[in-house]
Amino acid sequence: MKSPEPCPWIANIPAYVPGRSKEDIAHSYGVSSPVKLASNENPLGPSPKAAEAAREALTDAHLYPDPDARALREAASRHFGCPAESIIAGNGSDEIIDLVCRAYLRPGDTVVVPACTFSYYTIAALSCGATVRTAAMKGNHIDPRALLACAGPETRIVFVANPNNPTGTYLAKDDVLGLIEGVPEGCIVLVDEAYASFARRDDFMSCTALVAVYPHLVCVHTLSKSHGLAGVRVGFGVMPPAIRENVMRIKQPFNVNILAQKAGVAALEDRDFLKRTLETTWEAIDTLYAEFDRLGLVYEPSQTNFVMVHIGPQAHRIYEDLLRRGFITRWMASFGLPEHIRVSAGTPEEIRAFVKAMEEVL
Ligand SMILES: *Cc1c(COP(=O)(O)O)cnc(C)c1O
Repeated sequence: MKSPEPCPWIANIPAYVPGRSKEDIAHSYGVSSPVKLASNENPLGPSPKAAEAAREALTDAHLYPDPDARALREAASRHFGCPAESIIAGNGSDEIIDLVCRAYLRPGDTVVVPACTFSYYTIAALSCGATVRTAAMKGNHIDPRALLACAGPETRIVFVANPNNPTGTYLAKDDVLGLIEGVPEGCIVLVDEAYASFARRDDFMSCTALVAVYPHLVCVHTLSKSHGLAGVRVGFGVMPPAIRENVMRIKQPFNVNILAQKAGVAALEDRDFLKRTLETTWEAIDTLYAEFDRLGLVYEPSQTNFVMVHIGPQAHRIYEDLLRRGFITRWMASFGLPEHIRVSAGTPEEIRAFVKAMEEVL
């Protein structure tokens, strides 16, 4: 018998390109303990309190988790300053993005994404049979005017990562407001704030509080980066009541597992861990700026926990040579920038060793 036919749009979904793992590089290049600066993970590890909470939660591993994730949403409500009733907890923020797409997109609809951004928006939208329009960047910056120019009456979602991955750039307060107010009737603006806690500029603004004002605004957060829980999977969507009600209809009842719920609460309450994370990150970013300046490399100033740097035509060779020395960065070809690499913030020792390796391979 022939293999059954999938939905016709499935074949067009591009593969997600993850950062290469430590195990993979240790095995492929024979380096004993690679330093991973490829996926914007937290260099301090998880919050020790979160790790302890997850260990304790194992005792209840035979019980279903709370389908409403009430304690987790209440902790998120205190942390992000929005009502717990406006929050949905997810198995990472990727799940929230997926749920909003599934609730609002049908074949024939369009979504708008910036040309150089997080690739999961495109994957999630295409998997619903929607058409993706890509809006040109202005250099390494998301261009709100280009996003609006792509949005038509059949556009259901405009995606924006603020600050943006992989460029590290951000949209200032007025540009975000212009975007939210400028989309056509019936179109959701989904603002992904995975990196918002790292932003240092005064004119950066989180959209979380604006969800109470705009019935078409969804704001997405994650504990993967700032709280060191990428492997446990905890994300949040903050949304107006009507959107939340629709998304709740399709959410798997037990989407956030018991370890993630307990670890998430403990991580959100560990203010000291977040403070240390921000200090470590900003120190790493400032060191990378200074060292790239010294090496004559042009980088994009970043409001995140990574820096995108221009290497030139030999970027892939440099990326490979860094791998051979045990430093995993991200080559930006899959984002359409083959002359760039992206380097995540590490501990001071990791960054020092990375800079030394960089000098050698250049
Ligand atoms: C890392 C990242 C996420 C996080 O996704 P999770 O599913 O929460 O781990 C979301 N958006 C962007 C832009 C990211 O870079």
